[in-house]
Amino acid sequence: MDTFVSLCKRRGFVFQSSEIYGGLGGFWDYGPLGVELKNNIKRSWWRAMVQERDDVVGIETSIIMNPRVWEASGHVQTFTDPMVDCKQCKHRFRTHDLKPNEKDELRCPDCGGELTDSRMFNLMFKTFVGPVADEASVAYLRPETAQGMFVNFENVLTTMRRKLPFGIAQIGRSFRNEITPGNFIFRDLEFEQMEMEFFVMPGADEEWHDRWIESRVGWWTDTLGVRKENLQVREHAKEELSHYSKRTVDIEYDFPFAGFAEIEGIANRTDFDLKQHEEHAGRTLRYFDEASGQQIIPYVIEPAMGVDRCFLTVLIDGYAEEEVRGEKRTLLRLKPELAPIKAAVLPLSRNEQLVPPARRVSDLLRPHFMTQYDDAQSIGRRYRRQDEIGTPYCVTIDFDTLEDEAVTIRERDEMTQARVPIANLVDALREKLGCW
Ligand code: ATP
Repeated sequence: MDTFVSLCKRRGFVFQSSEIYGGLGGFWDYGPLGVELKNNIKRSWWRAMVQERDDVVGIETSIIMNPRVWEASGHVQTFTDPMVDCKQCKHRFRTHDLKPNEKDELRCPDCGGELTDSRMFNLMFKTFVGPVADEASVAYLRPETAQGMFVNFENVLTTMRRKLPFGIAQIGRSFRNEITPGNFIFRDLEFEQMEMEFFVMPGADEEWHDRWIESRVGWWTDTLGVRKENLQVREHAKEELSHYSKRTVDIEYDFPFAGFAEIEGIANRTDFDLKQHEEHAGRTLRYFDEASGQQIIPYVIEPAMGVDRCFLTVLIDGYAEEEVRGEKRTLLRLKPELAPIKAAVLPLSRNEQLVPPARRVSDLLRPHFMTQYDDAQSIGRRYRRQDEIGTPYCVTIDFDTLEDEAVTIRERDEMTQARVPIANLVDALREKLGCW
């Protein structure tokens, strides 16, 4: 894990937030390659959830909402974690994370010290809207994006003339004042979520829930290329269910630091949220069902995942070390559509005859793909650098290029090479990359 975290920093994927001041626990910055990977993940999700479906639309809602939203949703009362402090070393823990010892007595896992009684701690960040910081101006940074969809149910239903079943999707930042952030970007205080609320007729909810579970697992394996053997689907036990849920299933990944842990939750939220907002806002949030002539409150199936945890998953799953001709090679086997750089342009050397055609090839590719031009150090070293950041193809310009107007495309995983005329290069790469 340490090697992996240092690769993420060294190659510009993830930096500690405000690092020059010593950082801030649970907050991270994404570097030049990290932001590309993150955008590609978001694009892939949006494509699967919105663009390729005719029953889901997108939305973007504000992070700070009327605080009554969080009273209605139950977050003010119940979005809490029990926590304890160690009286000796002062470390703080989520009670859920502690395991009783043989005497069934909870002790500090770090120093064995005595723990305080468990206290409930609300995970929502509070702030104030306006110049006066008093109770009346309290507002919250949203802990999930979902409520933005529920409070806009009627707006979307009427403006988009939707019929059930239909969904509303959103990608956006969420904030949780987690007691124990950690495991790199696995548990953050500020993170991005991709959530979709799928509204269905009551009674059709269980079947839609199963369909969404299957579809979401397929996205992780087929679209993102995460290995099936590292994933599992876990059913929540009754006592584990959130206050709004009838059934929840987690997709879990086998992380090297934690074992199987949640990367996406797929919940049947029933009609809980719409009912609560009807009551608290005093507005009718119903759907007119022509078949029965009745106004009904739809049920909701919600696939919810975090971008940052997905980022960590695809990097860990794609990370590999191999031996090639007696030398170690580190590579990221990322699907081409996720790779931050699609093609690297590499002149064989800095020879003055090779630079102009190499620059020309780079200019040719740049409008079509994210590219990187690199002429520093030996060609072997440069291939290794690209392997390490997951670049699927390297385009090499050599002395033959001066004669035949062709270049070599070198592939990351098998390291195979093929000669392609410059005139066909864009099409050839597009076909190989197979992405949009
Ligand atoms: P956990 O049990 O790990 O705290 P959760 O059950 O509270 O997660 P959900 O409320 O279901 O999480 O949120 C949906 C998704 O959002 C999770 O699957 C995860 O990918 C992401 N997520 C939740 N909390 C965090 C966090 N603190 N940092 C990063 N991602 C998060």
